[in-house]
Amino acid sequence: MQTVFEILERRLAAGEVVVIACKACRRQARWPRDKAITRLGGWATTQAVRRRLICAGCGGRDAQTAFKGATSAYFAA
Ligand SMILES: [Zn+2]
Repeated sequence: MQTVFEILERRLAAGEVVVIACKACRRQARWPRDKAITRLGGWATTQAVRRRLICAGCGGRDAQTAFKGATSAYFAA
């Protein structure tokens, strides 16, 4: 078995968006694929993305990410 890290480039199909939600203040942002890759890098893993994100509202670092249009496992609404 080989561990395959999920990188943005592979994780996000064209037209999909990353939904980022701050667990502390519930502020939400939606980044289209192009913006996410420009800001974070196409090789950033999904884990690295969560570590790097800082909430613009409260400065919180505990962000939740979802990939819209991807597997339903990411959508526990
Ligand atoms: Zn926040």
